Amino acid sequence: DHQTTVKPVKPPPSPSPLRNSKFSKSNMRILVTGGAGFIGSHLVDKLMENEKNEVIVADNYFTGSKDNLRKWIGQPRFELIRHDVTEPLLVEVDQIYHLACPASPIFYKYNPVKTIKTNVIGTLNMLGLAKRVGARILLTSTSEVYGDPLVHPQPESYWGNVNPIGVRSCYDEGKRVAETLMFDYHRQHGIEIRIARIFNTYGPRMNIDDGRVVSNFIAQALRGEPLTVQKPGTQTRSFCYVSDMVDGLIRLMEGENTGPINIGNPGEFTMTELAETVKELINPGVEINMVENTPDDPRQRKPDITKAKALLGWEPKVKLRDGLPLMEEDFRLRLGVSKKK
Ligand code: NAD
Ligand code: UDP
Ligand code: UDP
Repeated sequence: DHQTTVKPVKPPPSPSPLRNSKFSKSNMRILVTGGAGFIGSHLVDKLMENEKNEVIVADNYFTGSKDNLRKWIGQPRFELIRHDVTEPLLVEVDQIYHLACPASPIFYKYNPVKTIKTNVIGTLNMLGLAKRVGARILLTSTSEVYGDPLVHPQPESYWGNVNPIGVRSCYDEGKRVAETLMFDYHRQHGIEIRIARIFNTYGPRMNIDDGRVVSNFIAQALRGEPLTVQKPGTQTRSFCYVSDMVDGLIRLMEGENTGPINIGNPGEFTMTELAETVKELINPGVEINMVENTPDDPRQRKPDITKAKALLGWEPKVKLRDGLPLMEEDFRLRLGVSKKK
């Protein structure tokens, strides 16, 4: 019969047929995994500002919340799917921002096997999706791939000092495998990839009981509880405000470099200095207590952002002292603690 004479037509590979057919080139359908989380929801806000973008969020709500996206729910250009990235996902998109993964140590250590699955199977699924539809995919990797770094500050060329069998390994080794998968799909299947190595990020919408240091100190200061500095207090981190982070991620996605590229704020502080700054800005009456630390805590961390400056024309704009009050305002509203006149 006539059907057997029809030759199967192989779908064109990258770029996605969506970019050529019913949408004009400038229209983009963008998937954000983990889009109900802290960084993801701010990224969605920025992407939705461009009226040519359609945004699909896939999130299992482990550490994220629909509340972070409430202003977009019901908007025709926006779609929210309850989905776990360890399961296959079938959607037609042009770009994938792959953020899904718990980021705070208390949450990623809660079910370490699930954290590994999210990083490995989750990233594999998103790469399979990118391959099928010809989408460009960006992975939010982490400065934790440098482990307890022996090189300071950390350039992208540093291979890191990571414990493969420790309690943080589900996260840092998981992200290292995710980076490997990204490059293998790129080399083997020609997938367009982007890798951001994100350094500690803070801002409004962080979970109040998230366990990370900036959210802990601000919540403690507002509740009038002692700030808990984990020993020795001389360990350092470099904190990037979330609007700067989102700007860096979008520039990386839109640019021509695969990365990995460090995105973070080089301003470096000891945890004791951070506690003193929060105390001074938010509640001068509060105490600072030294408490026990957790295993494998990196002693120092600061991004070398030479590549981000040169290749993306990006550098952070918001200083810690300017970002903390913006986060304080959000935490006051959520905790119901008003500012004393
Ligand atoms: P977050 O915990 O607020 O957001 C993660 C989101 O992913 C949440 O909405 C969560 O529900 C979702 N999620 C987790 N597992 C999932 C799964 N299996 N399937 C679907 N959704 C899942 O964390 P964040 O701070 O917004 O971090 C976002 C990304 O940035 C993560 O990939 C994290 O590793 C990376 N990162 C963050 C920081 C930081 O300082 N915030 C630093 C380095 C890297
Ligand atoms: N995958 C997916 N959505 C797609 C295409 C693939 O979630 O649109 C998943 C698929 O289930 C598989 C993974 O991505 O587990 C890797 O896909 P790939 O095609 O690279 O490998 P294969 O399916 O051949 O093992
Ligand atoms: N930390 C602290 N008090 C807290 C929580 C964390 O002093 O209440 C320290 C922790 O020991 C680490 C740093 O703050 O040295 C950053 O920890 P966080 O969990 O925020 O992020 P990490 O960079 O370790 O992923």
